[in-house]
Amino acid sequence: MTQLIPQGQPGEHTLPDDLNQSHAGAAIAAKPVGGGVARRGFLQRTGTGAAALLLAGVTGKVLAAAPTPGDPNRVKLSLIQDPQTEQAESTPDPAAAPDQRVGYAIVGLGRLSLNQILPAMSQCKYSKVVALVSGDSDKARKVGRQYGVREDAIYDYHTYERMADNREVQVMYVVLPNGMHAEYTVRAAAIGKHVLCEKPMAVSSVECQRMIDACRKAQRFLMIAYRSQYEAMDRMIARRVKEKQLGPLREFIAGNSQNVGDPAQWRLNLALAGGGPLPDVGIYCLNAARFLSGEEPHEVIASVFRPADDPRFREVEQSVHFVLRFPSGWSATCMASYASHESRFFRLQGAQGWAEMNPAFGYNGLQMRKGTLVEGKNATIDITIDPENQFAREIDHMSLCVARNQTPHTPGEEGLQDQRIVEAIYESARSGRAVRIAQPPGPTRGPDPDEETF
Ligand code: NDP
Repeated sequence: MTQLIPQGQPGEHTLPDDLNQSHAGAAIAAKPVGGGVARRGFLQRTGTGAAALLLAGVTGKVLAAAPTPGDPNRVKLSLIQDPQTEQAESTPDPAAAPDQRVGYAIVGLGRLSLNQILPAMSQCKYSKVVALVSGDSDKARKVGRQYGVREDAIYDYHTYERMADNREVQVMYVVLPNGMHAEYTVRAAAIGKHVLCEKPMAVSSVECQRMIDACRKAQRFLMIAYRSQYEAMDRMIARRVKEKQLGPLREFIAGNSQNVGDPAQWRLNLALAGGGPLPDVGIYCLNAARFLSGEEPHEVIASVFRPADDPRFREVEQSVHFVLRFPSGWSATCMASYASHESRFFRLQGAQGWAEMNPAFGYNGLQMRKGTLVEGKNATIDITIDPENQFAREIDHMSLCVARNQTPHTPGEEGLQDQRIVEAIYESARSGRAVRIAQPPGPTRGPDPDEETF
């Protein structure tokens, strides 16, 4: 069985054993399991109560407590609602002060960084942006001014390694075209930085393994940014499945499509993208089938379509359909397209009910419904919960993992397993046959994100 990360195991939360000592490196030291102190023991020593979570900043000092319900540090306001019958108005817990947050370098200032990730930083409680990496220095300076990043913390792809000397940078968030993820992750690990890498992890399973090995060797964490796994409604469905509320699973149906424009964009270039809609948007369907069910598929049959007369699809497929079969007898039927109007949805059906999201996978506007028997009638129930910024949740999860020396919920192994399945899907489409998928050699996920701290 492979270890997820050498310095921490799923379920085993560890903290550096001397949080009051300054660390020599730029990042919080990720100590081996044996060198850490079990979280429970540490919390008893500090006397802050079992629910308190401690954050250590760049200096390695105990810097802030993130209070949880019942904790004396929690901000207390009188309740208007009856908590037995109504959701209490939530009062944000105190966030870590700016000088105590985990520092990020954003690598690549494209659409996702500018439109989602950087704005989301203002909603983070434990994270801050301290450096930018871009091939366009004018853009980077403007963005730096907007987000308060110093000019001497703006780098390009040639000066990347100089960040080794920037102690404020603890995590490099790689937001580059897919074909560049492996190189910039390996280079980040080599200078002692933790890595948060966008999906898909890379363009081959060989590259994914190289990224895992590089981070393991450097004793740095690697997390893949599967934001849906940190999104509240997706998490609610995964919990219902675990509690068997849907009964035995039978089918999953999912689609993720968008109509792409510019034929010159990197998403249509095989080397930079690793494929067409499958690794870009189809991966959400694939990852949801695995994460919502907690099961791993053992076989896939797939087909892809590439029209000869559309200049957008000279190198990559226009659409993909695949059916994943799972050992317990259910199947997931998924499709993804680059030539259909935006459409994102899934439905998970069990013997006793179903749960769906439509839209699913998006940044906002998500809707959830469930179907179940109520008083002898087939009922459909809409569930709408307060939206939260998925990017802020996933980034703060990474920060808490760095501070606690804990394996992220979606480490490199999670991305590697998706990439193995992507390769099996393409192989099935090429051969026209069902392809077996090996079970991963060990767990692919770390501990669940701590809902209370979000
Ligand atoms: P963009 O094309 O908008 O941005 C990519 C950026 O990478 C560019 O702006 C550029 O930044 C930099 N870059 C460096 N070299 C190249 C190159 N050869 N070609 C193109 N860009 C280059 O892409 P996105 O922001 O949409 O996607 C980036 C990553 O994020 C991808 O891996 C994608 O899959 C993922 N993604 C994830 C989403 C999610 O919801 N989690 C949603 C959208 C994307 P600069 O000019 O600063 O150097």
